[in-house]
Amino acid sequence: MKDDKNNILKQVLIYLTISLILLLVFNAVLLPMISNSKVTETDYSYFLEQVDEGNVTEVKLDDTEVHFKVRDESGKFHSYVTGAMDDPDLVSRLHENSKIVFTKNYQKDNALFTFLVSWVLPFIFIIVLSNVLFKGITSRMGGTNAMTFGKSNAKIYVKAQTGKTFNDVAGQDEAKEALEEIVDFLHNPQKYAEIGASLPKGALLVGPPGTGKTLLAQAVAGEANVPFFSISGSEFVEMFVGMGAAKVRDLFKQANEKAPCIVFIDEIDTIGKKRDGSINSNDEREQTLNQLLTEMDGFDGKKGVVILAATNRPESLDPALLRPGRFDRRIPVELPDLGGREAILKVHAAKIKYDSDIDFNAIARATAGASGAELANIINESALRAVRGGRKSVNQFDLEESVEVVIAGYQRKNAVISQQEKEIIAYHEIGHALVAAKQKNSAPVHKITIIPRTSGALGYTMQVDEGEKFLMTKEEALARICTLTGGRSAEELIFNSCTSGASNDIEQATKLARAMVTRYGMSSGFDMIALETVSNQYLGGDPTLACSPETASKIDDEVNNIVKRSHEKAIMILRENIEKLHELAHYLLEKETITGDEFMGILNSESPVTV
Ligand code: ADP
Ligand code: MG
Ligand code: ZN
Repeated sequence: MKDDKNNILKQVLIYLTISLILLLVFNAVLLPMISNSKVTETDYSYFLEQVDEGNVTEVKLDDTEVHFKVRDESGKFHSYVTGAMDDPDLVSRLHENSKIVFTKNYQKDNALFTFLVSWVLPFIFIIVLSNVLFKGITSRMGGTNAMTFGKSNAKIYVKAQTGKTFNDVAGQDEAKEALEEIVDFLHNPQKYAEIGASLPKGALLVGPPGTGKTLLAQAVAGEANVPFFSISGSEFVEMFVGMGAAKVRDLFKQANEKAPCIVFIDEIDTIGKKRDGSINSNDEREQTLNQLLTEMDGFDGKKGVVILAATNRPESLDPALLRPGRFDRRIPVELPDLGGREAILKVHAAKIKYDSDIDFNAIARATAGASGAELANIINESALRAVRGGRKSVNQFDLEESVEVVIAGYQRKNAVISQQEKEIIAYHEIGHALVAAKQKNSAPVHKITIIPRTSGALGYTMQVDEGEKFLMTKEEALARICTLTGGRSAEELIFNSCTSGASNDIEQATKLARAMVTRYGMSSGFDMIALETVSNQYLGGDPTLACSPETASKIDDEVNNIVKRSHEKAIMILRENIEKLHELAHYLLEKETITGDEFMGILNSESPVTV
């Protein structure tokens, strides 16, 4: 409460100071300019001169000043002021000139009236004006589409505003089921009350970026038919200490008033980070978190306020936040599987025009590991491509090409690559493809291309599994490493040298081999020992070694051995098939892009194809 009062006091003070400054400026500069604009100061002799000449029409006398008006030849009036003199004749002099209207002891203005006009009126004016301005600013900060309630930026979404329902979320069936239960509770709480079940207070959506966490929350809002408050974690963290906590308080106050309702806090990790004693901990954030914890304990679970939150860094959240009674339910929103990907593609394809013969399953198979956001992007890219090609609807080829755009970037059509480099790239890619094709545990080759991409890839070989794979056997892992070394092996075999082009292959091979040793227990040197732990699993995963330095060097040896054996095997495979290597590489050089079928056709044909 103290924070609130302090803030209000501060605001009022700032307000008063600004008003006072404005007022001073007004009185010192503007008022004289307005009121004295046409009055010229002059000397007494000029006044007498004009009286004698009969030009003066009006005179006002007071103790210190003489105000008078003069009509010139053209009939225009001018106002003058001059100091009053001790001139006893003046009155009779003016009297002689019957034309002059004059007032003696004229009081300049009523003192009260002057005070009102120059101090009170502007003050009222400034207050009214600034009130209007302030209101304008705050309502603009609060967002335009949603209603704003008081200080907090939390917005109430009602059905029509998010326009999303569970139908817009494809895949994610488990997450939907869990959320549907919450929606159902809000619709008929008595059904649950009869049994004595109480509603979970909070549910935490966790998963990698782009899997549809925000979308799910919006769908809940669309389905719920109850008020839906949505706020992003970052909105709590403000410049002024105490503002975040005030906002949390405010949010929950509103939520309590509007119960039953749903409160959604997106990216909760911005405020929910573990509180640790480190020096650079953020006071504001900790205050906000403490307030959140207090509020979550404070409200009555039966009242029907449900808190949803989303994060992709669950391990960084404060344990206090995760304990039962707060976010006691954790809803994983994982990367979509094959069926999920196909469903997501279809949901988004419904918004575009496409040919009837499109095979979404093939696209889903080619996009293992892609998130919902990436799939939505692929659909949009394909539509853009169709427009660029002057077509009225999207075809299969547009989709396949946009998969590659999203994975590897756009084609760099005008990149100039010398013939010799092209040849190296062609052999490199065919090296990968051949090694892949000649091994049992390897996914079939889908496409090979040597058209450079904006991501920096000079060419690549796409392998697409027949179905969805959830496990990887040791044999498959080794086959994968062997395939990755195939490119470099071809360069060595044919050109007897190596290039920097294999750097990405090397990186991937090392990563996989390392994981085999440290995490999958697939090496001969170590038993089932976790030598590495992975943190941040939803954001790429940063492995941390959990072993002694001696063991670490043994791991390096082991990794090196795995890659080395695979490399040797790849060279052996290529050596056995060197004619096919030449033949395929030349074919690829000619065509630049070949499909998996063309590749297999040549590989399996008895007589060499001439190009
Ligand atoms: P995040 O998990 O990072 O909050 P979003 O919910 O913001 O991800 O998803 C971004 C976009 O990706 C959505 O607007 C939607 O177009 C698309 N998307 C993600 N997942 C799905 C899904 N399961 N079904 C349909 N579209 C999805
Ligand atoms: Mg999000
Ligand atoms: Zn390569």
